[in-house]
Amino acid sequence: RTVYVNGEYLPEEEARVSVFDRGFLFADGVYEVTSVLDGRLIDFPGHAERLSRSLRELEMESPVTDEQLLDIHRELVRVNGIEEGMVYLQVTRGVADRDFAWGAEGEPTIVLFTQSKPGLADNPKAREGMKVISIADRRWGRRDIKTVQLLYPSMAKMAARKAGADDAWMVEDGFVTEGTSNNAYIVTGGRIVTRHLGEEILHGITRAAVLRVARDLQMEVEERPFTLEEARAADEAFVTSASTFVMPVVEIDGASVGEGRPGPVAARLREVYLDEMRAAAI
Ligand code: PLP
Repeated sequence: RTVYVNGEYLPEEEARVSVFDRGFLFADGVYEVTSVLDGRLIDFPGHAERLSRSLRELEMESPVTDEQLLDIHRELVRVNGIEEGMVYLQVTRGVADRDFAWGAEGEPTIVLFTQSKPGLADNPKAREGMKVISIADRRWGRRDIKTVQLLYPSMAKMAARKAGADDAWMVEDGFVTEGTSNNAYIVTGGRIVTRHLGEEILHGITRAAVLRVARDLQMEVEERPFTLEEARAADEAFVTSASTFVMPVVEIDGASVGEGRPGPVAARLREVYLDEMRAAAI
């Protein structure tokens, strides 16, 4: 596999990042994951825009322009022959002697690699639905910045695995924030309900597109917090992310949601989202 590191395309075995990189020592870096379908990038502009925002919030400069970033994404997809899969991008503050304060480091470090995932769109989970457990949200307070500081979500994912579930919905002050790597939704009273944007959740690129699709389809959307109790009593539940698109949730903490089967709203949103995104892919 060919990867990209600081201006160079290299075989993965030859790619190197310093042990003094602040991404390694402090999780001082941000990332993006862009899906690839039919060999093309899904919603690249959305990811490029969020990357700029994450960098700005952390007082970091992008080492590349958006045009260069697009070229690098496309080149990696091409040389690695990715038809379905993803491109991972990470930018860290760079290399410096270990010190909490920044300012002494050189250029940011930028790394991109691809992962081939055949069957990404035709995922059997979309037909079966996911099981989730609930868990306390113990992440830091700026979840709107897409940092590489992913230890707590990893722990939550492991807790889900151990419980025989697919993922965990995190709960804070009685309300669901989001999944470990996705935004959470319920369908109740004929409306799609998902938490409003703020510092408590990541502003999903898929969330923005799916809510646009829902409104175009004349579905009613309510952006507000919801409780686990409300979710368990809902007609449907689902999650969205760049790599799972729209994925139904059929069980929460062992209790069925609705009929315990993927529902029509999630299925319709998945279908229309995928159609529109494939058509607009670059
Ligand atoms: N929420 C969290 C915590 C995430 O890590 C992710 C994706 O990685 C999402 C939501 C979904 O965001 P997106 O749709 O941009 O992939």
